[in-house]
Amino acid sequence: MTASPLTLDRLCIHQVTLMQCDFRASIECLSRNGVTMTAVWRDKLDEIGTAEAKRILTGNGVEAVSLCAGGLVTESGAAARQDILDDNRRWIDQAAAIGATSMVAITGGLPDGDRDLAAARARALDGLAQIVPHARAAGVRLALEPLHPMVCGYRSVISTVGEATAMLDQLAADDVMGLAIDSYALWWEPDLDQKLVDAAPRILNFHVSDWLKDTRDVRLDRGMPGDGVIDNRHIRGVIEATGFSGPAEVEIFSERTWWKLLPDDVVSTIIQRMPMHL
Ligand code: ZN
Repeated sequence: MTASPLTLDRLCIHQVTLMQCDFRASIECLSRNGVTMTAVWRDKLDEIGTAEAKRILTGNGVEAVSLCAGGLVTESGAAARQDILDDNRRWIDQAAAIGATSMVAITGGLPDGDRDLAAARARALDGLAQIVPHARAAGVRLALEPLHPMVCGYRSVISTVGEATAMLDQLAADDVMGLAIDSYALWWEPDLDQKLVDAAPRILNFHVSDWLKDTRDVRLDRGMPGDGVIDNRHIRGVIEATGFSGPAEVEIFSERTWWKLLPDDVVSTIIQRMPMHL
């Protein structure tokens, strides 16, 4: 199941990959390098608001495929839970306002001082269930993203494709909910190919980057495709063989390296890597 090299018309670059830019600068950089899709980062959106964001996207011919990242619904305590659910409804409205078809949802980790992982997973399920009606009404899909188990404590209490699909089974809202598959989060998973085939009808978004063997930070030291150990071409081939035809979304959190460089150099490096590594 080997895919053809990725072509520019199917390349999406997440705004967070260009953390060194403000909202406008990141979109203008993508546009002048021929990249027509992004995933908008919530913090950057909040700097300027949805109306201005939409104008910048449209004016540069860049489409927002999704808004990243909502969810984070493992908070305990009534007031904190109400706040985060309200935030999610607002984020869903923001996603709709910028024309994004999905909002990526991560569950969140354990609140400070909390050691009850099972209860946090139950709250994640409950929280997602509570935002489903709003997403449905807004016409925004929620792409549940399992993350690497090393960030279970503070980002996501679900780590595997199977845990994510089990949660989707319980939510029984496949008209609204699906999966975001991130190669960085899942490359290590045993029998990943078969698990992706089984989950295929639910895949809404496909995120790629690379796992550096000597990573210094499992969250903020992601590698450029080709610099690490993930066979992104193979993973894309597996999900495309099942019918997935969406973009490959490059999402690189890189405090040490790529966030320090000129944005045009980051984007041109991604494009240069496409024939071999994407
Ligand atoms: Zn991701």
